[in-house]
Amino acid sequence: MPSPLPLPLAARSQRATTPPSSSLRGWLRRLALPAAALLIAGAAQAQGVLSIYSARHYPTDEALYAGFTQATGIRLQRVDADDAGILARLRTEGQASPADVVLLVDAARLWRAEADGLFLPVKSPALEQAIPAQLRAKASADGRTAWFGLSTRARVVVYDKAAVQRVDVDTYEKLADPKHKGRLCVRSGSHPYNLSLFGAMVEHIGPERTEAWLKGLVANLARAPKGGDTDQIRAVASGECSIALSNTYYLARILRSSRPEDRAVAERIAIVFPNQSSWGTHVNVAGGAVARYSKNVPAAVKFLEYLASPEAQRHFANGNNEWPAAQGLSFDNPALKAMSGGSFKSELVPVSEVAMNQARVQQMLDRVGFK
Ligand code: FE
Repeated sequence: MPSPLPLPLAARSQRATTPPSSSLRGWLRRLALPAAALLIAGAAQAQGVLSIYSARHYPTDEALYAGFTQATGIRLQRVDADDAGILARLRTEGQASPADVVLLVDAARLWRAEADGLFLPVKSPALEQAIPAQLRAKASADGRTAWFGLSTRARVVVYDKAAVQRVDVDTYEKLADPKHKGRLCVRSGSHPYNLSLFGAMVEHIGPERTEAWLKGLVANLARAPKGGDTDQIRAVASGECSIALSNTYYLARILRSSRPEDRAVAERIAIVFPNQSSWGTHVNVAGGAVARYSKNVPAAVKFLEYLASPEAQRHFANGNNEWPAAQGLSFDNPALKAMSGGSFKSELVPVSEVAMNQARVQQMLDRVGFK
């Protein structure tokens, strides 16, 4: 059983009427934040309702959430927003926040929220056993953990088969080689996916070499950073550039698509998992935490434990073409298999260490002019 920190606020027993989440979102849009926060705070104190603030921008999680309610009788009330919106809301709401569980994408954001005191570190033997230490927050002195990775994604190199040799792009370091001048497309350097990759480079090759490498990337850009990962993949397929970085699930979406325009993209590109003969490909997590002012801590921990269970892990990861974070799970995703050849070597540096480098990396980006 989890044994969360004692909380000043005891769980309330009064009943409150909970509006369905769609109309709740409608209210939120129409009301000023403080008023909306009060309304929801009342609703979330209803027994048997768990309030989830989710930044997972993937439509396939619905069945998973329904499975939790079926298994436990605990209803979920979900607030969907982007990561920045969720963090801003948690800060504004403070102790009045109805949030019980927070789901965020990328270790950089999870660490930011942890550092800002928005999570309640918890002790859960089930989560500690399921999720490898390098995929969760560093435990505090009293053995509590602020967040847990629940699925993993790799940041890989995409290239134009006709224009680039695989051997020239099979490490992150090689992307800064002057021979690739004018060939590279990448989203903003300050995006958490890149901050995490660059933060991992600091762990692997040190800060000086990382900054020189970033300078090399800037020199090789085909265009100013813009768009998301999918835009970079499409830019490679259209010939605007010939090398790009992408998270694997964006690639899997294209590989699994039957749309003719996606088939054409898939035909043109190749994928390489970098650094297979050195420290491994950079992997990141999407993860979850108990909200700092949750009034339903045991149920919140139960929900995270459910997400780490084998059945949920398969669905959680497979639904969005990610890999399970829990150890030793087999699952069948043809696109991931096709991409990685079945398995690949991933880096072992703790994602929490990587995430802590983001402020330092941002300063490097500013110095080398990486927008
Ligand atoms: Fe994403």
